Amino acid sequence: MELTCCRVCLSTELRLCRQVRGFSFMRCANCSFVQLKDCPSAAETNIIYGEKYYPSSKYGEQSCLDAENQRRAALIWGFADSPVARLLDFGCGPGDFVAHLHSHCEAEGCDISAAAIRMAKENHPEIAERFCCLKPGIPLPYNQRFDVICMWDVLEHLGDPLPVISEVLECLRPGGIFCLSTPDFGSAAARLLGRWWWFLTPPEHQSFFNRASLCYALRKVLNLEPLYIRSQGKRTTVAFMLYKFARVLPDRGALPLRRLSTIAGLAQHSLYVPTFDILSAVFRKPVEAAVE
Ligand SMILES: [Zn+2]
Repeated sequence: MELTCCRVCLSTELRLCRQVRGFSFMRCANCSFVQLKDCPSAAETNIIYGEKYYPSSKYGEQSCLDAENQRRAALIWGFADSPVARLLDFGCGPGDFVAHLHSHCEAEGCDISAAAIRMAKENHPEIAERFCCLKPGIPLPYNQRFDVICMWDVLEHLGDPLPVISEVLECLRPGGIFCLSTPDFGSAAARLLGRWWWFLTPPEHQSFFNRASLCYALRKVLNLEPLYIRSQGKRTTVAFMLYKFARVLPDRGALPLRRLSTIAGLAQHSLYVPTFDILSAVFRKPVEAAVE
């Protein structure tokens, strides 16, 4: 996918802002959206999100998952103006959020990764039918409208996020809630750490928003009503932090970090890291925009 203009606002005023391991990130001077210059092909994407992307050591600490899922669920319940009947977790990975919610509402999950959906079905056999693997270029298999759609930690993985969000919003009922989280390129951590910021892991992370560009994209371009935007940290394991640090270091620097987590027995200890570099946001789909 050749980059000729900003994929959010179509401006051609792009400036090189970060170079990481041979990859170039370009920042739009108009809307401040940051995008990877050379995105991976479909074949490369399939390899990235294969079995190795979801090792148990990376997402395996249940207390972290539970805490994160509870926080996300509280966010949804806080903004949904009526009981949530149907929810879609778009980019559900191994399906933990859908499983967390399935006793509260009719939650479903979908993902482009066949490996993720296989794990979701294996990990949660009692609700296996609620997980769906998406095929590139094939319309979303939902002819119903959801009350809530979530895209947790998804946007940064997309080379061209707006067409995907636009298609996803077709599955949301008028007045429905759209929730997301994504790294905040405008955060102090992103600015201070520069090319060493832990979320700068191309080619899997390709698109970065800050508050301004997220509002531009979702309010101005996609006509959603912003209800909540906040930067926050994350509950995670020491192992996952070391994994993230290792991703931004050269190989020689990464190996000692992985060994350290094992030797010190710290790998599965969880903690809240107040980095304030993750945007958490809730938008509402206008009622009038969806009248057909
Ligand atoms: Zn732009």
